[in-house]
Amino acid sequence: MLPITSGPLERIWLLAHEVGHLLKHSGAASPARAHKVEVQADRWAACALIPEVAVQRYQNASVDAFIGALSRHYEDLPMQDCPQRRLAAEIATIRLKAIAGAP
Ligand SMILES: [Zn+2]
Repeated sequence: MLPITSGPLERIWLLAHEVGHLLKHSGAASPARAHKVEVQADRWAACALIPEVAVQRYQNASVDAFIGALSRHYEDLPMQDCPQRRLAAEIATIRLKAIAGAP
């Protein structure tokens, strides 16, 4: 079910997203709720990959700090722009929104 070309970060991200669905949702979402449940699963996954203890470690939580944490724990990310780094930035951004309590 996972893309063959995916790297370690993408694989753990996709798995965590699906675990988020399993834990937070039951059954198929109506079209009206489809976007909301995807956002909830993404948020659950971002919080799983960057847990509270990691947030506490980076007192100046930022996209760059969280990309560094993801790079250390899941996949050695290149410094230049690439799909893996963009995914890490997306995960970091979702995690920062969760910290801020954004809906
Ligand atoms: Zn989903």
